[in-house]
Amino acid sequence: MRLDHIAIAVRSLDDALSFYMGVLGLTCVGRETVAEQGVHLALLPIGEGRLELLEPLSEDSPVGRFLTRRGEGLHHICFQVADIEGTLARLRAQGVRLIDEEPRCGAEGRKIAFLHPTSAHGVLIELVEVPKEEDRT
Ligand code: ZN
Repeated sequence: MRLDHIAIAVRSLDDALSFYMGVLGLTCVGRETVAEQGVHLALLPIGEGRLELLEPLSEDSPVGRFLTRRGEGLHHICFQVADIEGTLARLRAQGVRLIDEEPRCGAEGRKIAFLHPTSAHGVLIELVEVPKEEDRT
């Protein structure tokens, strides 16, 4: 597995970008709305991975509820896998609690699935399928 991104829930992308770009000096390479996940997101490469800033489209979206409950902060981390169906089957067999029993469509049309934080020591983990030919190395 390799790190794909670290996602941070924010109230306002513009406010967050003024810190992550203006103060920390990172570069935003894209902004996107992912209606299925109820978010506007901004992508900022760092090292081999990237930061993903998430602003909810509405208060009753998953990220909107997260902000209401816990405020801004680390939302999830995402690892790349070559075969997401195979990985989910292996994790299920090992007793890992899955949020998504089947992969769904995430940003950039990639297949994603979330594991429950109770199985990952309190961290929401996302898996994304990155077929070998798309490998960034
Ligand atoms: Zn993510």
